[in-house]
Amino acid sequence: MALPSKATHQQTRVHNERLVVRTVYDLGPISRADVARQTGLTRTTVSDVVTGLLDEGVVREIGRGPSSGGKAPILLEVDQDARLVVGLDLGEEHFAGSLVNLRGEIRRSVELPVAGRDGDDAVQLVFLLLDELLDGIAAPLLGIGIGTPGLVDSRTGTIRRAVNLDWRDLPLGTIVGDRYGVPVNVANDSQAAALAEYTFAGGDRVPNLIAIRVGRGIGAGLILRGALFQGDGSGAGEIGHTVVDDGGTLCRCGRTGCLETVAGMRSIETRAAAATGRPTDLDAIRSAADSGEPWAVAIVDAAGAALGRSIAGLIGALDVQRIVLLGPVTALGDCWLSAVRREAGGRVLALLADDVDIQVVRPKTNVVIRGASSLLVARELGLSLVR
Ligand SMILES: [Zn+2]
Repeated sequence: MALPSKATHQQTRVHNERLVVRTVYDLGPISRADVARQTGLTRTTVSDVVTGLLDEGVVREIGRGPSSGGKAPILLEVDQDARLVVGLDLGEEHFAGSLVNLRGEIRRSVELPVAGRDGDDAVQLVFLLLDELLDGIAAPLLGIGIGTPGLVDSRTGTIRRAVNLDWRDLPLGTIVGDRYGVPVNVANDSQAAALAEYTFAGGDRVPNLIAIRVGRGIGAGLILRGALFQGDGSGAGEIGHTVVDDGGTLCRCGRTGCLETVAGMRSIETRAAAATGRPTDLDAIRSAADSGEPWAVAIVDAAGAALGRSIAGLIGALDVQRIVLLGPVTALGDCWLSAVRREAGGRVLALLADDVDIQVVRPKTNVVIRGASSLLVARELGLSLVR
């Protein structure tokens, strides 16, 4: 991170502190000397900063490492439970929230049914959820991260539009921040997934990343040069509502033939039900496709191929190599994934396709909650994800 040439003493101190925390977080257990080598800071500066971090409890010493001749160095690591953040997932059926530690591990969870609440009633439900989560919290709270459907301006914490909750231009970040007195970040659910993948990747972190959530809706979260890219109207990555099938079926957005109507969970299950004559869930479709039943192979292949073609557009525009797929539809397995890869790779310049890496990730924990909380963890590490 480049500092302005007239950085004040205070700015330099904060910058150094975050650089050291991030290095210990990504590479720990690590000695002070190795932190100095990695960061380019002097050993004296690193020692001073580490002393402060030990006092605050963010970093701890965990004994001596292997010696390389002289006295074996003391190793440092980040105490992952020294600070907690709240992550919220404002889903369609439930509002879920968790206390999350600095590694994205969930320490406590609460879930409340939405039961048709919208407008101000839905805001009150957010307060209720937070009050329950924060009752008796065991470590200092860094802040609150909120993942929500809809168009979200993360720079201001404003939800521009969330249809199901009847929110329009709601400054949720400010409302929650005023009530709880901590920093609040708001992101949409696909963007939150991308943030989780980026922040918690540790030493495996790459600057450019696309995370695509494929569920009932389909959205991409774009991390470009280490920051969330939201576009001019906060709608970057809204690939689910680009039309891929002229004359296709009606979409809930009002258009026909959107990607969601071909590759989304609801459309896949509807097609399967029409083929089998009974309700058929994703697991059943996967089993049928794996055993080569033609109706299932056709549905799964068409869904994967449509998504792959959209991904080809993203690769062509952005040349991002790391693409991760998440969400319920990834349960369709290898047949689906190979269709995605085939179309994504087969429709871009071969030179670009060679380096593309498309993987399914199946996080054990709620990815929206982890992602929402990751914005606060990232801030603690000095990664400015929202610019
Ligand atoms: Zn649509």
